[in-house]
Amino acid sequence: MEEVPCIHCGIFFIPRNRKQNYRCFPECQKARRAAWQRNKLQTDREYRENQRISNKKWLQNNPGYWKEYRRNNPDKADRNRTLQKVRNNRRLSPATHSTTSKPNLIAKMDARKSSDGKLSGQYWLVPLFAKMDVIKIYLHVITGSYK
Ligand SMILES: [Zn+2]
Repeated sequence: MEEVPCIHCGIFFIPRNRKQNYRCFPECQKARRAAWQRNKLQTDREYRENQRISNKKWLQNNPGYWKEYRRNNPDKADRNRTLQKVRNNRRLSPATHSTTSKPNLIAKMDARKSSDGKLSGQYWLVPLFAKMDVIKIYLHVITGSYK
């Protein structure tokens, strides 16, 4: 069979059958399962409800988990906070979904670093349409001439 690129990492591999879209690599299989669950949560109401109940029970047995998680993963907490702002923004103004809504494309993460009016700082690049992951980018303003 012909080599195809893995949906997760883009590395080419030989699939076992026509339906295999992810490499056997553990990271890729993890991504495959996550994608399956994302889809299941979106399309299966019963599954979604069971997951909600299950998560609720688990959280009752593990109080303070998310508080601890945010403390141990400040970077991920910042990312989630930023994404929630983007979601809230979209909910409030659905019209900004159009292609002309450039301001929504980049959500600024760390305002402290650019308080002097420059663009330098850390940003989360949030795709508006494509189902792809959010990535963190760093912008550094280069002062002086480019010549
Ligand atoms: Zn892969």
